Amino acid sequence: MLIVQKYGGTSVANTERIKAVAERVARTAKEGNKVAVVVSAMAGETDKLIGLARKLSSDPNEREMDMLLSSGERVTSALTAIAIEELGHKAMALTGRQMGIITDTVHTKAKIEKISADRAKKALDEGYVVVVAGFQGITEDGSDVTTLGRGGSDLSAVAIASALDADLCEIYTDVDGVYTTDPNIVPDARKLEKISYEEMLELASLGAKVLQTRSVEFAMKYGTPLIVRSSFNDNPGTLVTKEDKDMEKVVVSGVAYDKNQAKITVMGLPDKPGIAARLFKAIADAGIVVDMIVQNVSSDGKATDISFTVPKTDSKKAVKLTEEIAGELGASGVNLGEAIAKISIVGVGMRTHSGVAAQMFETLAKHGINIMMISTSEIKVSCIIDLKYTELAVRVLHDVFKSAEVK
Ligand code: ADP
Ligand code: ASP
Ligand code: MG
Repeated sequence: MLIVQKYGGTSVANTERIKAVAERVARTAKEGNKVAVVVSAMAGETDKLIGLARKLSSDPNEREMDMLLSSGERVTSALTAIAIEELGHKAMALTGRQMGIITDTVHTKAKIEKISADRAKKALDEGYVVVVAGFQGITEDGSDVTTLGRGGSDLSAVAIASALDADLCEIYTDVDGVYTTDPNIVPDARKLEKISYEEMLELASLGAKVLQTRSVEFAMKYGTPLIVRSSFNDNPGTLVTKEDKDMEKVVVSGVAYDKNQAKITVMGLPDKPGIAARLFKAIADAGIVVDMIVQNVSSDGKATDISFTVPKTDSKKAVKLTEEIAGELGASGVNLGEAIAKISIVGVGMRTHSGVAAQMFETLAKHGINIMMISTSEIKVSCIIDLKYTELAVRVLHDVFKSAEVK
């Protein structure tokens, strides 16, 4: 078999952990498999590098940020290759460029356009384990290093698995698999044996960082068989796969939270056609992704309020733009709320069962948690609440829905 194994930051946090990774890789190779490894930077390293840059500039150049941040994965790929060789197995570290990962030119959140995997394939055929630096690529003309967005090594792994036509892509992390909610917040969260790509995609995009959203999107598109498991033990893990009949029996398969959103409210906007279009076009043109939007019905037919959420990292930029437009449109004010969290419940079973949203709202109400915004899709319900209630909300919702299996 050809197996891609991705090891996250905690799995390569120090030389002891890297040795353990090397042992698992060598074992997999000795069992007769070809192995391509993808590594993240050591835990905390990317944040540390960002912190250093911020000490020098409040708005560092993004090309230079990619030069900087890509160094973390380069270190772990070489160290891991050295550790594997020490165990008597041929290994070769490859940067994103050497792996042939071609991306667009959008620094710090580049998209993979193609992978020219010839060099890696040749090395695998010659009996090497290849150890690829995750999270990074190179622009088409080869002139600049790019990175794929936070958590992007998951995407590197899934894309490499697809380019190599791998039989399996294993994501090794610090928890045993995908749980019904973050096991570090809710100790009685349950590990899922399997989860559909669609549910995983919702959970990831709603904040469950165990898999990066784009990696799930990619795996779903190409049908890459994906397993999430721990690098700290040999427990079986969670299979991310196509939806099957059994999955519909569970109404809510996961609870997710996201503390990285900010809420912007524009008050007293004129209630007439074209206003929302004007505001959101300006925000989209600035490359800011808007998540939830709520527009109130105006009580007097003249003025209305619009609230929306954006990633916290873009909130200052979004407020500035919003204030400009609000001024032009004659709105009465703009305010920014950063102490918020988005709490979501996800499950394909919601397609066929009613009353799930009501039960969520009731549960939050019972614990005195006010809902500021609501959004729904076929398989999820999300609420914006006060940041300080995040953990409480996750716990009580998990409690209510954990046994919600419909017979
Ligand atoms: P890595 O460094 O290996 O990429 P991450 O820190 O990115 O690991 O992701 C693993 C973390 O995701 C876990 O430690 C856990 O706290 C968090 N997490 C959030 N939601 C979930 C969930 N539903 N199932 C498992 N882990 C989750
Ligand atoms: N090191 C990068 C990050 O911290 C990429 C990754 O770990 O997947 O975001
Ligand atoms: Mg991660």
